[in-house]
Amino acid sequence: MARKDDFTGTLMHCIVCTKPIPPTRRKDAVTCSTECSKARKNFWRSQQDMVECRYCFRPSTPEERARYIKWRWAEKKAEKEATHATDTGSV
Ligand SMILES: [Zn+2]
Repeated sequence: MARKDDFTGTLMHCIVCTKPIPPTRRKDAVTCSTECSKARKNFWRSQQDMVECRYCFRPSTPEERARYIKWRWAEKKAEKEATHATDTGSV
């Protein structure tokens, strides 16, 4: 079995830009910098967003998301109009 100590002298490379990972980075780091780390995270996020919603885990496509945002705005607008109507007492 390979142990963690077997890789102490091994030069690791960033999985995003393939540059060597500096020794100042975390021991189990797979990226060379915060920028590469962000790029990696955003890649996986975009992959996940194509499959399901990041927040509710329901199926999600860009069209579905656009439709949802539209619906939310319509809902908000209707709510605002309803509260406004009751406040002024015109209804
Ligand atoms: Zn990198």
